Amino acid sequence: MPFKACRRCKSLVPKDATRCPVCNSTDLSEDWEGLIVVLDPEKSELAKRLGFIKPGRYALRVR
Ligand SMILES: [Zn+2]
Repeated sequence: MPFKACRRCKSLVPKDATRCPVCNSTDLSEDWEGLIVVLDPEKSELAKRLGFIKPGRYALRVR
């Protein structure tokens, strides 16, 4: 997988990134699963349910 996931907000960031561009956390994990792409959080029930308020790529589960 070319991504790491942020443990705080679950955003997926490039593998060479050292901090999350969304929440500025440096707590990134390579152990994640379930990629979800949120294009329009306003119109996505799943995104709302999971608490993703910005468009982007997210992991469903981060260890
Ligand atoms: Zn984050």
